[in-house]
Amino acid sequence: MTAPGRVGIVGLARSGRSAARLALASGSAVFATDAGDTEEVREAASEIRRHGGEAETGGHSVERLAECDLLVVSPGIPPTAPILSDQRLASVPWTSELEFAFRHLDAPVIAVTGTNGKTTVTAWIAHLLQASGLDAVAAGNIGLPLSEAALRDPPPEWVVAEASSYQLGRIDTFAPRIGVVTNLAPDHLDRYDTVEAYYADKAHLFDNARPHSTWVLNAEDPAVMRMAGDAAGRRLRFWTRGGPVGGESGGWVREDGMLMLRVAGEDEALVRENELRLLGGHNRANALAAALAAFAAAGDVVALRDGLRSFSPLRHRLEPIGEIDGVLWVNDSKATNVASCRVAVESMERPTVLLLGGRHKGESYAELANAMAGRVKAVVAYGEAAGRVDAELGARVRVERVDGPFRGVVWRAAELAEPGDTVLLAPACASFDMFRDYEDRGRQFARLVEELAGGPLEVGRG
Ligand code: ADP
Repeated sequence: MTAPGRVGIVGLARSGRSAARLALASGSAVFATDAGDTEEVREAASEIRRHGGEAETGGHSVERLAECDLLVVSPGIPPTAPILSDQRLASVPWTSELEFAFRHLDAPVIAVTGTNGKTTVTAWIAHLLQASGLDAVAAGNIGLPLSEAALRDPPPEWVVAEASSYQLGRIDTFAPRIGVVTNLAPDHLDRYDTVEAYYADKAHLFDNARPHSTWVLNAEDPAVMRMAGDAAGRRLRFWTRGGPVGGESGGWVREDGMLMLRVAGEDEALVRENELRLLGGHNRANALAAALAAFAAAGDVVALRDGLRSFSPLRHRLEPIGEIDGVLWVNDSKATNVASCRVAVESMERPTVLLLGGRHKGESYAELANAMAGRVKAVVAYGEAAGRVDAELGARVRVERVDGPFRGVVWRAAELAEPGDTVLLAPACASFDMFRDYEDRGRQFARLVEELAGGPLEVGRG
C-alpha cells in the first residue's frame, strides 16, 4: 500500500510507540502526541525523535494533528476523550493501531475477540500453531502490538491477534482469515454508554467477511450467533454441552469428557478434559475455540493433541499460586468483570473464600449470588466497591468488609480459610483504586501469599 505522507499518533503507550516505528519504517512522517507526561511517555517520545519522527508530551497540539493524513489512536484512549470528537480534526480519518498495522502486515491473521477469554484463546492458538511447526506469533492486546508483528522481517507465517472492542471500533479494511468470538457479556460500562454500543464495536470484526473467511463461534451464546448474523464465510461452532447436528463442522465435549472435532464429516477425538492444565468449564470452551481456529489454519490434529495438553495457565488467570497448610491460593486478578468472576467461582471445587472488590465498573454483583451458593463460604469485600458488594450480596452470603491496605484483605482471607479450602482472588472490578493495573494486583497478591507462607511457594500449577 502507499504510505500516507504524515501520520499522527495519539497516545504513546506500547502500541502507539510501535505504530510510530512502523509508520517511520514505511516512509511516513510522524507526529506523535500524548496528554501524559510520565517518564515512560517521555522515553517513548525521545525514542520516536531518535527514529526521525516528531513527538510531544503533556498535551495535544491539535493544529499539528489537523495537518496529518491519518490519525492512529491508541486503545488506551477512552472513546469519550475530547480529542476524539474535536471538530478541528473532523476531516482527518481516525484509525486504530490494529487497522494501521493490518495494512502493513504480510501474514494472514487470526483475530480473537469476545468479552472474556481473548488472551487465553489467542495465546493458545499461537501455541497450537507452533506445535505444528509454524512460525506463529500472538499479538494485539496480549502484549506484543500488532505493529511489532508487521515490522518483523521475515514476516511470521501466521499472526494471532487479540482484538478488543476499542481496536475493532475503528477498523476499515481489517479482514482476518479466521475470526473467533469467545463469548459476549456486559463489560466496560465505565467506557461505553450502553451494552449495545460495546457489542456494536465488536461486531466490526465481521465488516470485511468474505466467502473464504472462517468464523469460530460460541454456539451456546445467542449474542455471539446474533452478532455473526449472515456474514459471509464458513462457520465452525463450539459447544461444551451437546454438539453439532448432522454434518455440521465444529467442536464439542462428548459426554465422556473427550474434546471432539468434526470437520468435513470426520470425527476426531482430541484430548480428555482432565488432560488440560487449565481449570474450569470455560477453559474447555477456550480449548475448543483454539483447536478449531488452529485446525482451520494448519489442519494438523496430532499437533492439536500435543498443544492442548502442554498449554499452561497464563499469569493472573485462575493461576494456582500454591498451597499453605491445606489452603490453595488462586490468582484470577484478570477477572475484572462479573462474568469472568462468575466462571472463576463456578470452577471452584473446594469451599472458597472469595476476594471481591476494587473500582466499580457498573455491573451488579447480585448476579454472582447463584454461582456462589454451595461454593463460596465467605466474601472478603475491599476497595472502593466494598460497600456496594456488601449491600448487594450480604443477604445471600457471608460478606466481611476490610477497609485499608490489601495486606489486611489477604490476612483476613487467611483467617477465614480452613484446610481443604481455596482462597480465590477474582475481584470482578478494575484495580485502579489500589493498584497500577490488574497485573500489579496479581503480583502483590502472590507476594503477600508468599509472605504468609514464610517463603517461596512451590508453584501449584495443575
Ligand atoms: P480477556 O483477554 O478477554 O480479558 P483472559 O483470557 O485474559 O480474557 O481471561 C480474563 C478472565 O476471564 C480470566 O479471569 C478468566 O478466568 C476468565 N475467562 C477466561 N475464559 C473465559 C470464558 N471462555 N468465559 C468466561 N470467562 C472466561
